[in-house]
Order: sequence, then C-alpha cells, then structure tokens
Amino acid sequence: MFGLTDEQELIRSSVREFSEAEVAPLAAEIDRDHRPPLETIPKLAELGLLGILIPEQYGGTEMDSVSYCVVIEELSRCCATTGVMVEAHSSLCTWPIVHFGTEEHKQRYLPDLASGVKMGAFGLTEPGAGSDAGALATTARRDGDEFVLNGQKVFITGGGYSEVFIVFARSTEAPGTKGISAFIVDRDTPGFTIGEGERKLGIRGSSTPPLMFSDVRIPATNLLGREGQGFEIAMATLDGGRTGIAAQAVGIAQGAFEAAIDYAQQRVQFGKPLAALQAIQWMIADMATSIDAGRLLVYQAADLEDRGIPHGIAAAQAKLFCGEMASAVAGKAIQIHGGNGYTEAYPVERAYRDAKITEIYEGTSEIQRLVIGRSFLR
Ligand SMILES: Cc1cc2nc3c(=O)[nH]c(=O)nc-3n(C[C@H](O)[C@H](O)[C@H](O)COP(=O)(O)OP(=O)(O)OC[C@H]3O[C@@H](n4cnc5c(N)ncnc54)[C@H](O)[C@@H]3O)c2cc1C
Repeated sequence: MFGLTDEQELIRSSVREFSEAEVAPLAAEIDRDHRPPLETIPKLAELGLLGILIPEQYGGTEMDSVSYCVVIEELSRCCATTGVMVEAHSSLCTWPIVHFGTEEHKQRYLPDLASGVKMGAFGLTEPGAGSDAGALATTARRDGDEFVLNGQKVFITGGGYSEVFIVFARSTEAPGTKGISAFIVDRDTPGFTIGEGERKLGIRGSSTPPLMFSDVRIPATNLLGREGQGFEIAMATLDGGRTGIAAQAVGIAQGAFEAAIDYAQQRVQFGKPLAALQAIQWMIADMATSIDAGRLLVYQAADLEDRGIPHGIAAAQAKLFCGEMASAVAGKAIQIHGGNGYTEAYPVERAYRDAKITEIYEGTSEIQRLVIGRSFLR
C-alpha cells in the first residue's frame, strides 16, 4: 500500500483545514491550563470524526483504518491532546462495542458516541497492573441479574468527561487472564466515582483520572463479549489502538518538523539563514526520512487491518518506531530552534513533552519489543 486514495487525500485536506482553524488555536492554552478542549467535541462530531469506527447504521461515518489514522495524524499535528481525545474514544471505546457488543449494546451506545452526545473511555490499567495488565485485581461478582464491581483503575484517558466506560474486571476464579471479563459501565451508576485528573508532562489537556468502583451494580447484560473473554477483547482493542497512537506520534513529529523548517528559514546567524547550514539540512533530512518511514509503518498496519489480515505485530512495530521517532524528531526540532525552542513561546517545546507519552501508553516501547520479538521466536 503505497499511496492514499483520492478519498483519503480529501479526508486529509479537510481535517487539516479543520485542525488549523479550530484545533490549533486552542492547543497552547489547554496545555497551559491542563483542561480538555470540550468545546471542540461538537465540532468534531459535526465532521463525523467521533464515529469514524462506527457503522453508518448506528450513526457513524464508518471510515477505513487508513483514513482513521490520517485523521488522528492531522489532529495531532496541531494538538496531541485533541488527537488522543478522538483516538481513545474511537479505538478504545467504540471499536470494542462494534466488534464484541450485542445488537442491544450497539443500538443503546453507538449513536450517542458517534454524535458526541457521549464520549467513551477504556479502563484496563490499575495501580498494580500496568504492563502486566493480566494481573488486574478489580472484581465483578455475579449477583442474580447483575454484576457487582469493586476496585480501582488509574490513568484513564477521557475519564473526566466520558459517559461510557469499557471496564475490565475479574469475574471468575479462572487463573490469570482467563478470569477477566469486559463490561460497559455508565458514568452515572451508583458507587462509580471518578477522581482528579493527573497533572502531566505532556498532553496536558487530556483528562487522565482514576476510576473507583465501590459495589457498583451493573446489569449482567452489560457484559461485553463472553465471560472470561475480557483479556482477548483488551488485546484486540489495543492492536487497533496502537496503530492510532503511532499515527498520533507521526502527527506530533510532523508538526514539530514543519515548525523547525519555518524557523530554520527565518532565523539568521553568521549572516545567513540557519537553513543554509549543512548541519541544519542534515537534521532536516533525518527528520523527514524518519517521519516518512513511520508514516509508512502506520499505513501498513492500518491497511492490513482494512484487509482483514492479522495486524498486531505491524501495529506494535508502528507504535514502537513512531513513538521513539516522534521523541527524536521533536528533540531535533528544539535543537534547530536553539534557546527559543526551549521556551513555551514556540510550539516545539510542547511537541517534545507530548511526544514522550507515545512511548508509554497503550503499551510501552519495551512491551512492543517483547510482542515483536516473541513473534519471530515462536
Ligand atoms: C497519560 C496516560 C494515559 C493513559 N491512558 C490509559 C487509558 O485510557 N486506559 C488504560 O487502561 N490505561 C491508560 N494508561 C496506562 C498506560 O497504558 C500504562 O501506564 C502503560 O501501559 C505502562 O504501565 P505502567 O505505567 O504501570 O508501567 P509499568 O508496567 O510499571 O512499567 C514500568 C517500566 O518497566 C517496563 N517493563 C514492565 N514490564 C516489562 C517487561 N516484561 N519487559 C521489559 N520491560 C518491562 C516498562 O516498559 C516501563 O519502562 C495511560 C497512561 C498515561 C500516562
């Protein structure tokens, strides 16, 4: 897969136009104030960007995975927070409902998620279970027609404003990952409380609070998939999610790259623009080449998914490469800006802080290496 279709190019140009007009102007302010750009949600919904992975029959825009990655990249090019806001909602909440939900789940949840009336989140990580997600301790005890949830989740993207949560809990005595089930939990369920968001290094506008479950009773019909299928659902969800985060990383890198190009052509030292210096040109060459390599890995993983071919390893490769690439590119962008790049007055400082998270969430770089390495050693 070596090029975008005309339709995918059109999606890129319209999302770019939207991002530059509506997303970029808020990026520095929401970062400074650590606040989610809630005013952007209805605008994203109007463009159909909250229902990208949702079939049209439930109100979605049902785009292919490559188009989805183009959207996340373009949003993240202007604002990584807005990129992950759409990514977590789409990949981590709407996708598992579409693929593992019952008809009743789809009719009840998807139209509101597509229209932005409700945002969605994904609760897997716990204080004692991060990379080792299978060690999660939240419990779901069956009681008649209900499950009763007890436990805690941490670092839940979109938790502060979401209404629909995919929550993973241990519901059977089966050992390890086999005892884990997935549930859909509504925000207003009694006993379900949401804590204060973390103050973070980057993507500061993204809300990342803990979730607390204290005898939270949900109807047994809110079980997503089969009992004991939760870990499988989480891993399948993260395959798509990782491609989305890789796309976010490409967008962050692209934004920093463009800022560096502009700066290098304007800033004069030794009587000529920085861009005339070979040292700067080499940095630009390395940045451009690694961004293109990352983008191709993203498209490869997304294209495999679109063609129904297993894409877990390709997604892990894309996320591993793009996460580290974005941090390196943003670092070079600061270097090209010199002292100015180290200040909040220039957007590369934010890009550098934002890039780091793409090496951590939805599986750290070490976990991606583990997944990729093992796949060759079977
Ligand atoms: C901003 C943010 C948003 C997030 N959003 C969500 C969300 O929406 N939903 C959700 O469920 N979670 C979310 N997370 C959690 C995130 O996915 C985890 O932080 C991540 O998976 C790492 O887990 P951990 O933080 O517990 O680190 P740990 O697992 O404690 O890892 C610490 C270090 O040890 C390394 N390590 C661990 N195990 C191994 C191993 N076997 N081999 C080699 N190295 C290893 C890790 O790579 C890392 O470098 C979010 C986190 C952040 C910071």
